[in-house]
Amino acid sequence: MTVYERDRTPADRLQGYRVHIDPHGARALHDCLPPESWQAFLDTTGRGGQDFGFLTERLERLALLETPAAADPADGHHSVSRITLRQILLSGMEETVRFGKTFERYERRPDGRIELFFADGTSQTAAIVVAADGGNSRVRGQYLPHARRVDTGITTVAGKFPLTRGTRELVARRLTDGPNTVIPPKGLGMFCAPHDLDGTAPVGGIGVTEQDGARMDNAGSYVLWAVGAAQGRFPGDLSGMSGDQLKASVERLISSWHPDLRRMVAMSDPDTVSLLPIRTSIPIEPWRATTITLLGDAIHSMTPMRGIGANTALRDAHLLCQALTGGREPVEAIARYEDRMREYGFAAVRDSLRAAQQFVGDNKPARLGFKAFLRTAQRFPALKARVFS
Ligand SMILES: Cc1cc2nc3c(=O)[nH]c(=O)nc-3n(C[C@H](O)[C@H](O)[C@H](O)COP(=O)(O)OP(=O)(O)OC[C@H]3O[C@@H](n4cnc5c(N)ncnc54)[C@H](O)[C@@H]3O)c2cc1C
Repeated sequence: MTVYERDRTPADRLQGYRVHIDPHGARALHDCLPPESWQAFLDTTGRGGQDFGFLTERLERLALLETPAAADPADGHHSVSRITLRQILLSGMEETVRFGKTFERYERRPDGRIELFFADGTSQTAAIVVAADGGNSRVRGQYLPHARRVDTGITTVAGKFPLTRGTRELVARRLTDGPNTVIPPKGLGMFCAPHDLDGTAPVGGIGVTEQDGARMDNAGSYVLWAVGAAQGRFPGDLSGMSGDQLKASVERLISSWHPDLRRMVAMSDPDTVSLLPIRTSIPIEPWRATTITLLGDAIHSMTPMRGIGANTALRDAHLLCQALTGGREPVEAIARYEDRMREYGFAAVRDSLRAAQQFVGDNKPARLGFKAFLRTAQRFPALKARVFS
């Protein structure tokens, strides 16, 4: 097996924010990684809190969904830095991953093998091609040209509020205890989640910081925040804005919110603040299986509002690995994988789009209704358990 990666080096495309790994992602990592890499994952995750809060912009609690800690970490929830996760996934793969190889197109040869052409003028042949080249997948563009990825019209600005001994006390405890969705009156939304590394040290190069700057700091604790709005709601044209300007735009937008939420934004290093336009794929009808297949964002990119895109990609990798090593003929194995992947993958796309629309919902009665529903659910634990199960 060979992985062709367009980045020139492992540190080329480091992304600074944390990512939530759910039981699907954790199970996939547990089953696919060598034991020492799984252990390194467990040793370097940040405390992210198990319980999920719903708050108003005045920090009143609407509901808190308690998730008991899993007995087996492979069935649990984890907060991991993207940089650390990439280090874990790459460890021991030096012989397998070829950096600096930007895929451009493929051709099917008469013997059934597939010839891959790269931007550096070289080519390689393969019996099976797995496209894991992300939301703008070039493999998908050629293989399933009718599969589209569109802008949702929702824009998010994210940043990192540093968690130090001094800053921890400056915001409400709930904001550092676990993830929260803030539901303001209408048209806006905020998500925040702690990534608390207190006492966690890098293990054998995993968890170290590879690049300078607050954004790429892999060793500090922080609360990730993201404020979203329908396009046009943020003051000013966000494209091309610096971190400072983006931060100022968010500050204006949330100027009437609780001081602790405003403080998190105000105290974030501008270097950590970035613009994230929200896109989604559009689910397509099943296609006939061949020796080319796809996984992750390459086939079902989704909005980040449910925090399941990477988990679904890991679930795909796990399932595809089981299918291809299960003794079946490759096209039959791929067909079985794709049947299941399309079902949960496109369901995740639809759920995530709904969550994004709800996140910035502009319908005042619907928003009031949702808040009333959360308050009611909070008062009746049996109802809450049933609805959120
Ligand atoms: C703000 C935000 C927060 C998120 N939070 C979460 C979360 O908490 N939990 C979660 O599960 N998901 C989350 N997601 C979604 C998650 O980031 C993606 O679903 C996930 O990264 C998809 O993984 P992937 O491997 O399919 O694609 P990618 O991570 O995009 O990886 C694609 C790889 O292919 C390479 N590549 C691309 N084109 C080529 C080419 N032509 N030739 C060679 N190589 C190529 C790229 O360099 C890259 O290494 C979030 C997304 C965003 C935007």
